[in-house]
Amino acid sequence: MTTATSSEKIFVTKPYLPPKEEYYSYVDKIYETGHLTNEGPLVKELERKLSDYLGVKNFQYVTNGTIALQFALKALGIEDGEIISTPFSYVATTSSILWERCKPVFVDIEPDNYTLDVNKIEAAITDKTKAIMPVHVFGYACDVDGIQKIADKYGLKVIYDAAHAFGSIYKGKSLLSYGDVSTLSFHATKLFHTVEGGACIAKDKEVFDRLHMIKRFGNIGDEHYNLGINGKQSEFHAAMGLANFAHLEDIKQRRKTISEYYDELLEGRLARPSVQSELEYNYAYYPVLFKTEEELLSVFAALNQQGIYPRRYFYPSLNTIGYMPERYKCLVSEDISKRIACLPLYVGLKDSDIEMICKIILADG
Ligand SMILES: *Cc1c(COP(=O)(O)O)cnc(C)c1O
Repeated sequence: MTTATSSEKIFVTKPYLPPKEEYYSYVDKIYETGHLTNEGPLVKELERKLSDYLGVKNFQYVTNGTIALQFALKALGIEDGEIISTPFSYVATTSSILWERCKPVFVDIEPDNYTLDVNKIEAAITDKTKAIMPVHVFGYACDVDGIQKIADKYGLKVIYDAAHAFGSIYKGKSLLSYGDVSTLSFHATKLFHTVEGGACIAKDKEVFDRLHMIKRFGNIGDEHYNLGINGKQSEFHAAMGLANFAHLEDIKQRRKTISEYYDELLEGRLARPSVQSELEYNYAYYPVLFKTEEELLSVFAALNQQGIYPRRYFYPSLNTIGYMPERYKCLVSEDISKRIACLPLYVGLKDSDIEMICKIILADG
């Protein structure tokens, strides 16, 4: 078998780069105004465009998706106690809880779409529980209604780590409009990026105002209202965001086409998560589930030999990380995380690359 169409390695993702001139035209504006940061015109324009596009109000652009989670906890007044969360996510979900001096309490996931298992949440609630922090993992919707019902019953806040849910629509509205706060990541590897960046979307205007205060030191001029920190994003990051924004439809379309081509070529030979009927999926990832970890490792070895590097998203299950304050058993997450991988999915991925990837998987699997 021949190696990839070029000598270029193929990773799970490759950051989208807009045409240089389009980025430069925004940079020219920065040079014209001399406004580099502190909520300048490009940041304002990006916030406006994104909140319109996503169909959400109370949108705050911040420096990254991890600080967005920390801001959500701060803005909701959660300073200690237990946060019920999922072990099947990127480590930032859990580390943001720990960094805010709260304790993550892990509840297992659904076997079919890997989101928090709503039937297991109540058993984990104690008098110290303050909030539930589920993840719309890979862009699949959590059981938002079930989770809200439990939150209402016990007086808990709901913070969605929606880092993967950019553009996902659920039951006719943005998946980001559920819960008290949803957070996004615009990291270079994500579906939509601003190099680094993130956002908080608040249900209440009051929480939005607090988020806004926190992200700029808690003050307006010389008046200090509350403790804050610096979470402001620069005009250069917004420039990249605006340049990418203009290509969003093409980005989405290509990702959809690639995903459907994988579906066709893999012929159902690998298990895939089941997408809810009421979800308009955003094609953020292409996860596949192998039968065993051995099979995954063997396919990875064959792919690596051809310069193809999928990623073990998400491995290990976060409840097994050594520095967690308490041990929890999450058998479904521990099992899935050993067998799951995300296949390469990005705009520049060629049809011939997809064909080669599938050929290797089917030969080895
Ligand atoms: C990427 C990611 C984050 C962190 O976002 P950054 O912008 O890199 O800080 C948080 N949660 C999940 C689920 C992610 O995938």
